[in-house]
Amino acid sequence: MPGESPRDLAAEARKLPKADRLLAAADRAGFVARLGHAPVMELVRSALERARERVTAGEACPPAEEIEETLLRRLGGEARGALRRVVNATGVVIHTNLGRAPLSDAAVAAMAAAAGYLNLEYDLAAGERGDRYGHAAPALCRLTGAEDALVVNNGAAAVLLALAALSEARPGGREEPAGAPAQASGEPGPPGPAALPEVIVSRGQLVEIGGGFRVPDVLRRSGCRLVEVGTTNRTYARDYEAAAGAATRILLSVHRSNFRLSGFVHDASLEELVELGRRRGLWVVEDLGSGALLPTAPFGLPAEPTVQERVRAGADLICFSGDKLLGGPQAGVLVGRREAVARARRHPLLRALRVDKVTLAGLAATLAHYERGEAAQRVPVWRAIAQPVEALGARAGRWRAALAADAPGAEVRDARSAVGGGTLPEVTLPTRVLALPSSDPDRLSARLRAGDPPVVGRIEEGRLLLDPRTVLPDEDEALVAAVRAALDHS
Ligand SMILES: *Cc1c(COP(=O)(O)O)cnc(C)c1O
Repeated sequence: MPGESPRDLAAEARKLPKADRLLAAADRAGFVARLGHAPVMELVRSALERARERVTAGEACPPAEEIEETLLRRLGGEARGALRRVVNATGVVIHTNLGRAPLSDAAVAAMAAAAGYLNLEYDLAAGERGDRYGHAAPALCRLTGAEDALVVNNGAAAVLLALAALSEARPGGREEPAGAPAQASGEPGPPGPAALPEVIVSRGQLVEIGGGFRVPDVLRRSGCRLVEVGTTNRTYARDYEAAAGAATRILLSVHRSNFRLSGFVHDASLEELVELGRRRGLWVVEDLGSGALLPTAPFGLPAEPTVQERVRAGADLICFSGDKLLGGPQAGVLVGRREAVARARRHPLLRALRVDKVTLAGLAATLAHYERGEAAQRVPVWRAIAQPVEALGARAGRWRAALAADAPGAEVRDARSAVGGGTLPEVTLPTRVLALPSSDPDRLSARLRAGDPPVVGRIEEGRLLLDPRTVLPDEDEALVAAVRAALDHS
């Protein structure tokens, strides 16, 4: 009890094992060799600290064996690494918390090969300096129909760079500070330091994507001023036109990728913005979010705009992510018109946003699947989306059979998977899952997450569901073993 005399506390505290004893135990178990001295000592100290807190709170000192056992368990977790492979049985195909797109075997092999030396910025034929950005651009142009392409670190970086680079001048190279009187539109710019280049965006598209990406914030960081037009639900091309003034440089269209507006809704089409942009000497940029290179409708999904369609509509720059529906590594892609991409390539921010060699290799290998016409079979995101419900049911049935002795009440049932990753909001795909019976599904779920490998499922109506759609083809055995181990302990 917390009210007891200090002498009893001191006596209990003296029973705590010495740090040296714990360190020796960790060393005998091989953890000092595997992890290094300092990380082991850190966990030894925190184990002692926690035991001391219990004593201070009035509990009896835990036995030394118990402290040692807990320490070894935590060291075991540490030795498995901070970043670990996880079996995604959630049914959410592009799961942001689980690393978004899983990569194809070819992409993984290309990334491993790129980890050493490579001709990243070296022209092998000429034996001289080459261009880092030249590697993925030809494939991106062939696949999307764009004149030029540029790859950066992620989708947010692509948007930031597009706005920063294009706000510096008008199309056609008319360099003029935004605040200077612009003869072109006949209106004088606002005076003084407030005269930042302006970007016009519909109020219905001032979205937050998640992970701190808010369109208005990114826009300000790019050195531009936001001009909002229209209303939350309805914006017309004439609203953009009325707002375009001397300082306007960019008409920005943002794809509402992670939520849906329905009912009395109108957006200006990209074609209308392109027509206005051409007429008034303004850039048109689209933040497309997910870079779908395959049409989604044949997979039973609502039509998501493809990159090709948006290029055809004539936007100067289209920005999208590499690790959403494209199914590659984390990257941001800019495709569009030659002059616009050239401005982005020349901008000093590019150096800060530049893409890593391993990423570039993985992206190129992913794009090659599309070029060979095999993306639906080889790119894991599309392969997961394309799974027919019968095949998913058969796989869940095989799991049930393998677990028959451990979980006799498990059953295969109909459920819904999601695409996720802030794409195709509220859209689900029919699936069949293995539903595990448990009196305490939260506890079973925690056991599965603590397993090796950790398995993440989802709980619905008091049952833990495992969705085969997102479990990679070679993970069945690991999944069954992990479920068996979790059930054994519950
Ligand atoms: C996902 C998304 C982004 C950000 O892309 P990241 O690759 O996550 O940086 C930006 N805009 C839209 C519309 C998105 O959906």
